[in-house]
Amino acid sequence: MVEVSHLTKKYGDFTAVSDLSFTIEDGLIYGFLGPNGAGKSTTMNIMTGCLSATEGEVVIDGHDIFEDAKEAKKCIGYLPEIPPLYPDLTPVEYLEFVARAKGVKAKDLDEQIADVMEQTGLTVYANRLIKNLSKGYKQRVGIAQAIIGYPSLIILDEPTVGLDPKQIIEIRNLIKNLGKKHTVVLSSHILSEVQAICDRVMIISRGKMVAFDAPDNLESLMMGEASIEVKANCGRDVIEPVIAKMDFVTGYDITEENGTCTATLRTAETDRQKVQGDMFRIFGENAVPVFQMTPVKASLEDVFVELTVGSSEAYEAEMEAEKEEEAEE
Ligand code: ADP
Ligand code: MG
Repeated sequence: MVEVSHLTKKYGDFTAVSDLSFTIEDGLIYGFLGPNGAGKSTTMNIMTGCLSATEGEVVIDGHDIFEDAKEAKKCIGYLPEIPPLYPDLTPVEYLEFVARAKGVKAKDLDEQIADVMEQTGLTVYANRLIKNLSKGYKQRVGIAQAIIGYPSLIILDEPTVGLDPKQIIEIRNLIKNLGKKHTVVLSSHILSEVQAICDRVMIISRGKMVAFDAPDNLESLMMGEASIEVKANCGRDVIEPVIAKMDFVTGYDITEENGTCTATLRTAETDRQKVQGDMFRIFGENAVPVFQMTPVKASLEDVFVELTVGSSEAYEAEMEAEKEEEAEE
């Protein structure tokens, strides 16, 4: 439904988004994850037709966002980083204003506004001035204006930023519900958030995509060299010679405490189940009293840090290399 190809945005000499290409399919919740300044808002502003691109193409449901903006925008509901709320209106007045601007038919107006307020939990505050609402409820008004007109694609820029923990949970649940009827793209710099809500995660660092996959796959992608933690009721002297017999183990660490030892074994084998089966068999054959074996799962947190830090190191190196080149000239 959304095809982004070779999107680049430069602010003067500075490249905020660099050659970004990806596809958004119907019915899923997508998370753009990246540290501040990664280029998330820039990408969203371009996708929604609020900002021009330096290069590249964005096609929404067959409509080019630059060539055919009017049709493309009809498919999109957008909650920008700073939502354009009118503090002196009530939610119901504001949503009516938005609905008219979006061309919702007069006969559908009341019903649709009531439905959207119901969906976003605003019904109780329908007639309170927006300026007198809490931050969490203001954010609900922002989300409500994105849903009005029932666009198929909802884009939310950092929808939970600045909210307290209770409000964050409420907004996350609201977004999950939205995902049942709409395609949703949200941005966040909080990993646990995209992990909790999204079906697909795109990690952006310094304007470049560094990973794009399901949260589970991202974890396994980064596992690369897997590790398995083994606990046994014996000393290091018993387990170490047996580990040496395992040709699929590429490295290990052992700690001892109160008569038990914990060994972390690393392997490059991808078939985890087979590896664990073989380990178990070899420990058994050699009478090592193993009582626990646990695969060590890389959390998405590690993936995020590894990918984004890695790329920033690469970036620093690139900058250094450029400086040196300049110095040579
Ligand atoms: P994010 O939303 O991921 O925090 P942004 O897309 O807002 O990132 O910004 C990406 C980079 O582009 C940042 O380094 C930011 O300082 C820069 N930037 C954003 N808007 C402008 C602008 N109008 N002029 C110059 N630089 C900008
Ligand atoms: Mg931003």
